[in-house]
Amino acid sequence: DYVPGGYHPAYLGETYKDGRYVLVRKLGWGHFSTVWLAKDIQENRHVAMKVVRSAKSYRETAIDEIKLLSKINHTDPQHPGHRHLIKLLDYFDHQGPNGTHICMVFEVLGENLLSLIRRYKHKGLPIKFVKQIAKQILLASDFLHRQCGIIHTDIKPENILLEIEDVEKLVKYLEDSQRERKLLRRVSSKLKASGVEASSSSLDEEKRQIPFRKSRHSRRQTLVTGSQPLPSPLRSKSSSFFVSPLKSSISTFAGRTAGNVPIRSETSQQDLQFLLDKSFKDSDPYSAEPPREDELEDDDLITVKIADLGNACWVHRHFTDDIQTRQYRAPEVILGANWGCSSDIWSVGCLLFELLTGDYLFDPTEGPTFSKNDDHLAQIIELVGPISHRVLEEGFNTKRYFHSDMKTLRQIKNLKPWPLESVLMEKYKFSETDSREISDFLGCMLITDPKFRMDAAGLSNHFWLNDCGSFGYIDREPGTRGEDVGAGWYREVRKHH
Ligand code: ATP
Ligand code: MG
Ligand code: MG
Repeated sequence: DYVPGGYHPAYLGETYKDGRYVLVRKLGWGHFSTVWLAKDIQENRHVAMKVVRSAKSYRETAIDEIKLLSKINHTDPQHPGHRHLIKLLDYFDHQGPNGTHICMVFEVLGENLLSLIRRYKHKGLPIKFVKQIAKQILLASDFLHRQCGIIHTDIKPENILLEIEDVEKLVKYLEDSQRERKLLRRVSSKLKASGVEASSSSLDEEKRQIPFRKSRHSRRQTLVTGSQPLPSPLRSKSSSFFVSPLKSSISTFAGRTAGNVPIRSETSQQDLQFLLDKSFKDSDPYSAEPPREDELEDDDLITVKIADLGNACWVHRHFTDDIQTRQYRAPEVILGANWGCSSDIWSVGCLLFELLTGDYLFDPTEGPTFSKNDDHLAQIIELVGPISHRVLEEGFNTKRYFHSDMKTLRQIKNLKPWPLESVLMEKYKFSETDSREISDFLGCMLITDPKFRMDAAGLSNHFWLNDCGSFGYIDREPGTRGEDVGAGWYREVRKHH
């Protein structure tokens, strides 16, 4: 892939835009690009820089992405959803051995929601966090749909990133702990030289729990996507978590050797091990266990932003009908019927269920006698009931999956209805009240007819979100169904040129 037309062979310390940006480390990569942490010399701050592959098709996609991101930047910053979308700061061309690469500069964000789901060991996030995330995603979606005329089309945990409260502090923290590791390594080699075997496992960088070295193998990311995300603390008052009481002792300890003061060999190995473990695990704000429901305090807030507009399109101009990641794909898209902004809302419903439970809402598989789409449609019907007749009639592919009665699936006979409320109670052990409230809320998003699916603005005022904290307010009755968006809510409406 590092060939003409492919990725740019970037390296640490490489400069961009006449020396304005200097690469610091890699943050991630995707099908289209590599993403780097860079220092913006002009503004004296750190940024995330996406270096796009140079081939024509990638360039063209990147130009569309820049247009969509620019629309976001130039649309009403007063809207409460504006701050929950990633911001493009700059873009330019960069010449390299493999061609001309478009570079997009963004604010630096932290882990994505999939890594948060994993940190909670696929057992679900505290409801309080899910409410906060739901509110912010809905505000951001309303901003995209109504203010910008943009449909994201790829809402999923990987594309929602946690905000980092103080990027410069985090980068400094990472640099400091890197410096400490170097010192400790020097201590260890001194120990070895003096005949003391320091435990190799504790010193093995790959095995240790250093936040940005943790490997995060995705259960679904394709081979062409990966990330080494910057961690982000989960609590609002993160500053206190930065103060490591052990830091000074480590420096003193390491300083002693640096100053050639002999170390007592009988205790040093344990000391070293202890300090390593402590300094990089317990006292590390970023690798700490995430808080459980009963540990949350009133002012614990998390902030998220929707990222990756690389697959987004305009309400008035869809680029393709082949949209959304499988598990988050709406029924109208599967069936080849009209789709619009409301398809994002279906994905939000799937995403929120996953945050609450740690499991996919729908995870269709192929069988010997049925396709993924067959299974997907069956799972939808089992959960929410029959698919809207209007959508079935409109769908180009309906006949492939349904008998001519448009009720029964061709390939899957025995459906076992299991409504969301019962699933939440029986399988996931939510209380009766929680199960009822959650299924009421998600049910508004999992309406199979995109025309009648509820919209983001109305949903942001749903009673389930009443106690989620203040993220702003949109003056709209709950229960609206895209009235302010118009026909673009559920189908493409081409503008006359
Ligand atoms: P895809 O194949 O998903 O379309 P892509 O080439 O368009 O990939 P992105 O998804 O935008 O690239 O970014 C790739 C990875 O880089 C992300 O998964 C994320 O881990 C990281 N990343 C992107 N933007 C940022 C940012 N602003 N701050 C921190 N990390 C980021
Ligand atoms: Mg992506
Ligand atoms: Mg992309």
